[in-house]
Amino acid sequence: MKNFGILLGIVGIIMMMITGFSYATQKRVVDIKTPQYVIDPVCGMKVDKSEAYRYKYQGATYYFDNYNCKQSFKMTPEKFLNNKCVNSKDTIPQK
Ligand SMILES: [Zn+2]
Repeated sequence: MKNFGILLGIVGIIMMMITGFSYATQKRVVDIKTPQYVIDPVCGMKVDKSEAYRYKYQGATYYFDNYNCKQSFKMTPEKFLNNKCVNSKDTIPQK
Protein backbone atom coordinates (compact mmCIF):
# COMPACT_ATOMS: atom_id res chain seq x y z
CA MET A 1 0.00 0.00 0.00
CA LYS A 2 2.98 2.27 0.64
CA ASN A 3 4.03 1.95 -2.99
CA PHE A 4 0.53 2.74 -4.20
CA GLY A 5 0.66 6.13 -2.48
CA ILE A 6 4.00 6.94 -4.11
CA LEU A 7 2.70 5.81 -7.49
CA LEU A 8 -0.35 8.04 -7.09
CA GLY A 9 1.93 10.96 -6.26
CA ILE A 10 4.09 10.37 -9.33
CA VAL A 11 1.02 10.10 -11.56
CA GLY A 12 -0.23 13.36 -10.09
CA ILE A 13 3.04 15.13 -10.84
CA ILE A 14 3.07 13.77 -14.39
CA MET A 15 -0.50 14.94 -14.92
CA MET A 16 0.40 18.39 -13.70
CA MET A 17 3.40 18.49 -16.03
CA ILE A 18 1.31 17.43 -19.03
CA THR A 19 -1.41 19.97 -18.27
CA GLY A 20 1.15 22.72 -17.72
CA PHE A 21 3.00 21.80 -20.87
CA SER A 22 -0.08 21.71 -23.10
CA TYR A 23 -1.18 25.04 -21.66
CA ALA A 24 2.20 26.58 -22.47
CA THR A 25 2.09 25.12 -25.98
CA GLN A 26 -1.41 26.44 -26.61
CA LYS A 27 -0.39 29.88 -25.45
CA ARG A 28 2.59 29.92 -27.79
CA VAL A 29 0.40 28.91 -30.74
CA VAL A 30 -1.99 31.75 -29.96
CA ASP A 31 0.91 34.20 -29.81
CA ILE A 32 2.12 33.14 -33.24
CA LYS A 33 -1.34 33.38 -34.77
CA THR A 34 -2.10 36.83 -33.36
CA PRO A 35 -3.01 38.82 -36.48
CA GLN A 36 -1.36 42.11 -37.24
CA TYR A 37 -3.99 44.65 -38.08
CA VAL A 38 -3.52 47.54 -40.44
CA ILE A 39 -5.96 50.15 -41.69
CA ASP A 40 -7.29 49.93 -45.22
CA PRO A 41 -6.69 53.49 -46.56
CA VAL A 42 -9.73 53.29 -48.85
CA CYS A 43 -12.55 52.38 -46.48
CA GLY A 44 -10.82 52.69 -43.10
CA MET A 45 -11.45 49.05 -42.18
CA LYS A 46 -9.08 47.06 -40.00
CA VAL A 47 -7.51 44.28 -42.05
CA ASP A 48 -5.33 41.33 -41.13
CA LYS A 49 -1.96 41.79 -42.86
CA SER A 50 -1.60 38.11 -43.71
CA GLU A 51 -4.99 37.96 -45.47
CA ALA A 52 -5.12 41.44 -46.96
CA TYR A 53 -4.75 42.51 -50.57
CA ARG A 54 -1.46 44.29 -51.02
CA TYR A 55 -0.36 47.09 -53.26
CA LYS A 56 3.02 48.74 -53.35
CA TYR A 57 3.06 52.44 -53.98
CA GLN A 58 6.03 54.81 -53.66
CA GLY A 59 8.02 52.27 -51.69
CA ALA A 60 5.29 51.63 -49.12
CA THR A 61 2.98 48.65 -48.97
CA TYR A 62 -0.73 49.29 -48.49
CA TYR A 63 -3.26 46.71 -47.37
CA PHE A 64 -6.89 46.35 -48.38
CA ASP A 65 -9.79 44.26 -47.15
CA ASN A 66 -11.08 43.46 -50.61
CA TYR A 67 -10.24 43.62 -54.29
CA ASN A 68 -12.41 46.66 -55.00
CA CYS A 69 -10.59 48.75 -52.40
CA LYS A 70 -7.27 47.76 -53.93
CA GLN A 71 -8.49 48.74 -57.40
CA SER A 72 -9.81 52.08 -56.16
CA PHE A 73 -6.46 52.79 -54.57
CA LYS A 74 -4.58 51.76 -57.70
CA MET A 75 -6.63 54.19 -59.81
CA THR A 76 -6.16 57.22 -57.58
CA PRO A 77 -3.69 56.57 -54.76
CA GLU A 78 -3.19 60.30 -54.09
CA LYS A 79 -6.88 60.71 -53.30
CA PHE A 80 -6.73 58.22 -50.45
CA LEU A 81 -3.34 59.25 -49.15
CA ASN A 82 -4.29 62.94 -49.04
CA ASN A 83 -7.53 62.24 -47.23
CA LYS A 84 -5.77 60.19 -44.59
CA CYS A 85 -6.55 62.53 -41.72
CA VAL A 86 -10.02 63.45 -42.95
CA ASN A 87 -13.14 61.35 -42.69
CA SER A 88 -13.11 60.46 -46.37
CA LYS A 89 -16.74 59.29 -46.51
CA ASP A 90 -18.29 62.67 -47.23
CA THR A 91 -15.38 64.19 -49.09
CA ILE A 92 -16.26 65.40 -52.57
CA PRO A 93 -13.53 64.52 -55.09
CA GLN A 94 -11.84 67.63 -56.41
CA LYS A 95 -11.83 67.65 -60.16
ZN1 LIG B 1 -11.59 48.41 -47.85
